[in-house]
Amino acid sequence: MRVVVTGGAGFVGSHLIERLLDLGCEVHCVDNLSTGLRENLAAWHDRGRFFFHFQDVREYLAFSGPLDAVVHLASPASPVDYMRLPVATLMGGALGTHRALGLARAKRARFLLASTSEVYGDPQRHPQPESYWGNVNPVGPRSVYDEAKRFAEALTMAYHRTHRVDTRIARIFNTYGPRMRAHDGRVISTFIRQALRGEPLTVAGDGRQTRSFCYVTDLVEGLVRLLRCDAPQAHAPVNLGNADEHTILNLAHAVARLAGSASSVAFVPLPGDDPHLRRPVLDRARQLLDWQPMVALEQGLLRTITWAAQAWPGFVDGAAAERHAA
Ligand code: NAD
Ligand code: UDP
Repeated sequence: MRVVVTGGAGFVGSHLIERLLDLGCEVHCVDNLSTGLRENLAAWHDRGRFFFHFQDVREYLAFSGPLDAVVHLASPASPVDYMRLPVATLMGGALGTHRALGLARAKRARFLLASTSEVYGDPQRHPQPESYWGNVNPVGPRSVYDEAKRFAEALTMAYHRTHRVDTRIARIFNTYGPRMRAHDGRVISTFIRQALRGEPLTVAGDGRQTRSFCYVTDLVEGLVRLLRCDAPQAHAPVNLGNADEHTILNLAHAVARLAGSASSVAFVPLPGDDPHLRRPVLDRARQLLDWQPMVALEQGLLRTITWAAQAWPGFVDGAAAERHAA
């Protein structure tokens, strides 16, 4: 298969590309490096089947030759990033998704949109099945991301219905693992960085809000299965995540313990519109893809902490790293 992955220099994209290359695909990564890193891709340039295109996905996407699939991941994804890049996030979700769908249509390629659990907003239904329409504040601080993704889903369905593009929509829940940036602002990377430096872990609000965290290799397996799925109803959105739900305060204690850190907890103000609860219903993913997450939170956190202790040397307090290694 010849596949375009937009946003492939990012956290999820780089793991997906690694997997696609292992499966024998030729992969073209389109990325403007706004939140992604060149070093995420460095290992594959010598494999002959990997090509990097430094391009903004909001611009016209030109490719010669046939394509089998377009996987559209390009978008800032962490609240810190999308609040720093609000207009780019909205326009990426709108124009960028339009370009990526246009490319898939022109090439008669399958299209997969990386959507998000944020389409459910601050959910009034718990846990969240795909049939839930969500509770999003359209003018709140998170709306630039949430509405961009809701628009991207609507555009994807319009291309499916009107232009008969073979589309897939993955609603991805909070995902973590190696290659997260130390300062991406997401809760797991922040807590790990703080724990390894022996600094207080900044828990927002009272820490009773919940999230359900999926390890990145589990997510990638789900994405690959969805991309390969030929079932007639495969165009309808599918939740991909882990249903093991934790409070943020419990997560802080778990990260400190697993990192062997003496860090305390510091409570900081809860950001506006921060969702109170989040947990996926995974029945559809199980039935459609015969998929379920395999990596438990402790196991995934340990792998991520071990990676971060190596990859973020400038951020690690020597004593904490030694305690962790011990
Ligand atoms: P990331 O920030 O690490 O990666 C996003 C990539 O997209 C980066 O390489 C960035 O440079 C690129 N990009 C952004 N705007 C672009 C543009 N206009 N043109 C070209 N490239 C552009 O984020 P991630 O965590 O890897 O997320 C990847 C996708 O998965 C996103 O669409 C995100 O919304 C979705 N998602 C991720 C999570 C998660 O927990 N990681 C959860 C839900 C959804
Ligand atoms: N959070 C926190 N401390 C931090 C960063 C985030 O307590 O240093 C909280 C955040 O307010 C939210 C949860 O952790 O309740 C998950 O945040 P993240 O940005 O990782 O993901 P999202 O809110 O998009 O699910």
